[in-house]
Amino acid sequence: MFDKPLILVAGGAGYIGSHVTVELVEAGYEVLIGDNFSNCDRTCYEGVKQILGREVPLVEIDFCDRTATDNLFATYPIAAVIHFAAFKAVGESVTEPLKYYRNNLLSLLNVVESAERHGCRNILFSSSATVYGEAEVQPVTEQSPRLPATSAYGQTKQMSEDILRDVVASKGLVRGIALRYFNPIGAHPSALIGELPRGVPNNLVPYITQTAVGKRQMLSIFGGDYPTPDGTCLRDFIDVVDLARAHVAAVTRMVEDKMEQPYEIFNVGTGKPVSVMQLVEAFERVNGLKLNYKIVDRRPGDIVAIWADTSLAEQKLGWKATRTLDETLASAWAWECHLAEQK
Ligand code: UDP
Repeated sequence: MFDKPLILVAGGAGYIGSHVTVELVEAGYEVLIGDNFSNCDRTCYEGVKQILGREVPLVEIDFCDRTATDNLFATYPIAAVIHFAAFKAVGESVTEPLKYYRNNLLSLLNVVESAERHGCRNILFSSSATVYGEAEVQPVTEQSPRLPATSAYGQTKQMSEDILRDVVASKGLVRGIALRYFNPIGAHPSALIGELPRGVPNNLVPYITQTAVGKRQMLSIFGGDYPTPDGTCLRDFIDVVDLARAHVAAVTRMVEDKMEQPYEIFNVGTGKPVSVMQLVEAFERVNGLKLNYKIVDRRPGDIVAIWADTSLAEQKLGWKATRTLDETLASAWAWECHLAEQK
């Protein structure tokens, strides 16, 4: 039924999953998307098909359903699974921790258990730079200590990494890669897929684009008195298409049997710190518009600065970020404009 290696993208209708699906298919893989549309609508799934000019098989499934997950792995010859099916709102995870522990951990447990049982050797987990917390030394390497998480979301990322590590070490039936994302932003150059936050965005770039398009009145820049060159926080903003290509490199490393350890971790960032203010100014310049913004109090829980040491990904995955911040911010704006045209 499938001539090429089949990759299950769990949560493939979401922001990152949809970009990964496109890059995997363009790299010659077959993709099966599993999604229950609990945290996204069909916009990105439709966009993926339009970009690729073909159907992409989709199974509507809740990975918290153990039987359904097991049946999926029993039915399809899955060469590797990429697990994105998780909730990601940090603030909500503090007020509703059980929702996050249940969804994010149960789905991972089911995926890992079924992969092991049905001979799917390769598991790629989407982790986060949030595991580093407020690191003392920048840039952070994969060896930097993981600090105690300050939210249930961050806690599920650490726990999921540990679950995967322990299962890999136990019977040797599966191997795993965890990719630690820094701040994914931007959209596909076609502007047919991108980030689609529900309600008021928590993240910076969707808030910027929604302010620019008039959906939000004003962007609040959280804190202008941090000990950084311009007083605003420093982050490592990674283009979502670059990020997606890191997944293709990691999947290839797994299915071609090139892993050096059965469980590996890679930072996925640009390696370059950019301040919130620099990002806002670049957005204005690249897209030729003025943003309504003001500097307000710091947001509780924000860390001052974090950026990635990306040398391990460069060496072992042969991957590094290629899109410029300007291209990325132009793509984010093109996507917001595309959404506005659909209305
Ligand atoms: N930020 C901001 N205004 C917003 C959203 C975010 O100033 O409306 C800042 C936030 O304080 C942080 C940076 O932008 O310094 C990135 O925040 P985001 O929530 O996108 O990602 P985080 O790094 O917190 O995971």
